[in-house]
Amino acid sequence: MRRVYLDHNATTPLDPRVFEAMKPYLMETFGNASSPHHLGRLAKQALEESREIVAKVIGAKPEEIIFTSGGTEADNLAIRGIASRKDERKGHIITSSIEHHAVISTCNALEKDGFSVTYLPVDSQGRINPDKVKNSIRRDTILISVMHANNETGVIEPIADIGRIAREYSIPFHSDAVQAVGKISVDVREICADMLSLSSHKIYGPKGIGALFVKDGIELSPILAGGHHERGLRAGTENIPAIVGFAQALRIAIEEMDSYQTKVSALQNKLESELLDNIDQVEIHGAKAKRLPHTSHIGFTSVEAESILLHLDLKGIAASSGSACTTGESEPSHVLLAMGISPELAQGSIRMSLGRENTEEEVDYTVNVLKDTIRKLRRISSKWSRVEKKAL
Ligand code: PLP
Repeated sequence: MRRVYLDHNATTPLDPRVFEAMKPYLMETFGNASSPHHLGRLAKQALEESREIVAKVIGAKPEEIIFTSGGTEADNLAIRGIASRKDERKGHIITSSIEHHAVISTCNALEKDGFSVTYLPVDSQGRINPDKVKNSIRRDTILISVMHANNETGVIEPIADIGRIAREYSIPFHSDAVQAVGKISVDVREICADMLSLSSHKIYGPKGIGALFVKDGIELSPILAGGHHERGLRAGTENIPAIVGFAQALRIAIEEMDSYQTKVSALQNKLESELLDNIDQVEIHGAKAKRLPHTSHIGFTSVEAESILLHLDLKGIAASSGSACTTGESEPSHVLLAMGISPELAQGSIRMSLGRENTEEEVDYTVNVLKDTIRKLRRISSKWSRVEKKAL
């Protein structure tokens, strides 16, 4: 059966060039980077070269990169690492209502522990207002954590403005840039970030590896007890093949960013405009905001996202109903609800995230399948018959 993969925000395939770079470290060069012998030294060298690549891409110094098991751990390390600093009182954290669960659930857990958290609202396009960040700052604010680009809608947040505010008030600023890095240019100096989360498997690298940028001078407590790896901030033997793969994936993403952006944004425009032209009552969430060039979150009135996804899957098309972590749950997306989208439309919304291997022809196929699917589902939808009657 024909397969069209449109779920790159959930994860990407491994780039064959990345796999080639990883191979030696899975087999012959298998040493532990802490070992004193030649295999250990080779592993250490690969580790430090990879750290340099990652650092350079985001405008950081190599010693400011801490490898983690992925974006989730990086987010946890940033937030819990600040919250559990020595002598830290149970202070106040500012974040947004549209963060990934890795940030929201961590903040929820800290609230139960006695910290207070402000979850900033967003406008109808999913944008955070920097003035609201400023107005939420309290004397006891210990951290501002706002994502760079949203994983569900692709909306890019005004984080340079937020970073400047954080710096003005000397409050550590963390940004979850898991969906932004490698797709748009991200420079920690330009956005005044003190911490930044990255993940490899969103950019054609292996799963289970990521990093946290921690600016020189930012004091963090480790969240794992163990050996003195990664400047004492992340205990555990480094996963050298994955780290090498992550750095290669990032290097390729940066080298090919212009052609990637041109390609996927043309496909995104085609997908969105053809859906709007061919199907009634369709909404592109966050359409008026600056968005990532490959992410479209689309609402279809009077149909259930789970049914649409099932039909698409039967035709070989892989998409999702928002954050991968909530797929399978029938709760509407917290991101769409925060944007003021009705629970009904949120439940009829699907996310399609394009990748470098998608083609125009695949977009044509997807639009045709969707046209057919929505027509069929609406034919049996009582909600849709009410919408139609109202229109008469
Ligand atoms: N943050 C964002 C914005 C994400 O989209 C994801 C993954 O979907 C994560 C964090 C978690 O990253 P990982 O899967 O590497 O743990």
